[in-house]
Amino acid sequence: MSIQILNCASMSPWWPRWQVGGVCLLVDTDQGPVLVDTGLGLHDHEAPSNLVRFFRMDLGIHYAPEETAIRQVAARGLQPDDIHHIVLTHLHFDHAGGLPDFPWAKVHLHRKEFEALLHPKKWIERFAYDRKDFKHQPDWVLYEHATEKWFDFEAIPLPFSPRMYLIPLFGHTSGHCGVAVEDSTGWLLNCSDALPTNAQFDLTPDWLNRMAIGPYVPRLKAFAADHPEVRLLAGHAWRADFK
Ligand SMILES: [Zn+2]
Repeated sequence: MSIQILNCASMSPWWPRWQVGGVCLLVDTDQGPVLVDTGLGLHDHEAPSNLVRFFRMDLGIHYAPEETAIRQVAARGLQPDDIHHIVLTHLHFDHAGGLPDFPWAKVHLHRKEFEALLHPKKWIERFAYDRKDFKHQPDWVLYEHATEKWFDFEAIPLPFSPRMYLIPLFGHTSGHCGVAVEDSTGWLLNCSDALPTNAQFDLTPDWLNRMAIGPYVPRLKAFAADHPEVRLLAGHAWRADFK
């Protein structure tokens, strides 16, 4: 069993001038390769919505169709229709943009995130999601109840082997989750947008982290210090860290 870390969304924001990517995982499981987040899709490069166009300028998103999950899956010698399952941390376009490239896949997601898409309550939710990502009506598999613990976090088991969990880390969006995956070397936690790119350098103040990515930064940093054996990834890790 292996976990490959893919960069499916290179960005070079104007300020601060960070060179970051968009973390997706390609995990070997008993049900074939599972994608955790999709990054940007082909349509985000070839026919972007106004929302994506706006963020492309703001975040300095690269034009790079070869970085899409579907192209990277093919480059690894897999057939795209071998991907039967996609697990999503949340529905923002830079994490879910690749969904239309895998319209046959079951999409595993926290129910709260799905409800925020269907019935946005906060003003930001009204325009935060790119409707083009969901026009093909994905085959959703929704989860709600955390029935287990992963270390001291509430955890929702996903139906794959090796073990995988959705870890509710709400804040960045209503139903935002991290995804914990086990392989032969131990655990990896993709914190997605609950952990800032710059966590190890403390470049952004706590109040800004709380506002933009939610309340879990202090807890995730403390967890990282207590558990050096667990690999933690920010959803927009430095590009140099993709290995
Ligand atoms: Zn996001």
